[in-house]
Amino acid sequence: MATIGFIGIGNMGGPMVRNLVRAGHAVKAFDLSEDALNFAVQAGARAAGTAADAATAVEFVVTMLPVGANVRDVYLQGGVLAAASTGAAGTVVIDSSTIDVETSQAVHLAAADAGLAMLDAPVSGGTMGAEAGTLTFMCGGDNATFKAARTILADMGKNIVHCGGPGMGQATKICNNMVVGVAMLALSEAFVMGERLGLDRQTLFDVLSTSTADSWALRNMCPAPGPVATAPSARDYQPGFAAALMLKDLRLAQAAAQMAETATPLGATAAATYALHVGNGNGALDTSSIIKLIQGER
Ligand code: NAD
Repeated sequence: MATIGFIGIGNMGGPMVRNLVRAGHAVKAFDLSEDALNFAVQAGARAAGTAADAATAVEFVVTMLPVGANVRDVYLQGGVLAAASTGAAGTVVIDSSTIDVETSQAVHLAAADAGLAMLDAPVSGGTMGAEAGTLTFMCGGDNATFKAARTILADMGKNIVHCGGPGMGQATKICNNMVVGVAMLALSEAFVMGERLGLDRQTLFDVLSTSTADSWALRNMCPAPGPVATAPSARDYQPGFAAALMLKDLRLAQAAAQMAETATPLGATAAATYALHVGNGNGALDTSSIIKLIQGER
């Protein structure tokens, strides 16, 4: 069993920590929020006083933070790389946050300078996947680091995929979330239009989910309340995956599209539409709440 420092105990990090503890690992947790830290302690982790403390004398460091600036802060200014490199030899650092490829590659370089092996390993599967330990990890880094990290990633996820060198996990994740953002918008349009045409919501769901329009987004995050009892739409759009985080990812996808000189008209529309929705004050609601905008609500 491994010793693990875990930093960022939010909607995703919380259940991930719980699964690591359940698998028998010794977890030292840190978060800026006291509530988040309490969650980790109740799950069986030990509370660390700082991010650097969580990264000291452990075999693995895992970060699950909101945005690239947090990742840069924690690893560089917060002293996590410095602490990890003075602790047990051969610490592997794993960043599972969804961030831009550039920041991820910069942190990879800084980790290498500090003599540390690093993997970017963003996830897919949402909070339900984090709870169930069925996340998909999209990993970027060298082969040896991937193999080493796999031993603990398997306790939080089902599909652990090596996508390429540093930053390629993030590149994969940004492609994935651009598709989900576009799908959520398309589903919202279909449900609002369908109801206005006189269709029953459940009937529309039953047909879409068994026909060519079927998708993970439909079956798990159906934006219209009712057909999926466990979807955020059934609990007044409490996340789940916050609309503000989806907007962040769609903007990352647009930046990546520019870098790769690729036309992404649907991704651009999704980014602009989520910007309106978040601008209306809905950033803390689940991604599927975008249906409110299509319904004409603010
Ligand atoms: P969250 O906001 O619920 O959790 C982030 C946690 O990080 C918070 O508890 C916050 O207090 C903590 N934090 C922020 N800055 C910190 C710092 N400097 N030091 C220590 N702790 C700090 O976010 P989340 O939903 O758990 O998402 C985390 C990451 O995972 C994001 O990049 C998101 O895009 C990605 N992601 C989320 C989902 C989802 O469904 N929620 C799915 C896949 C990927």
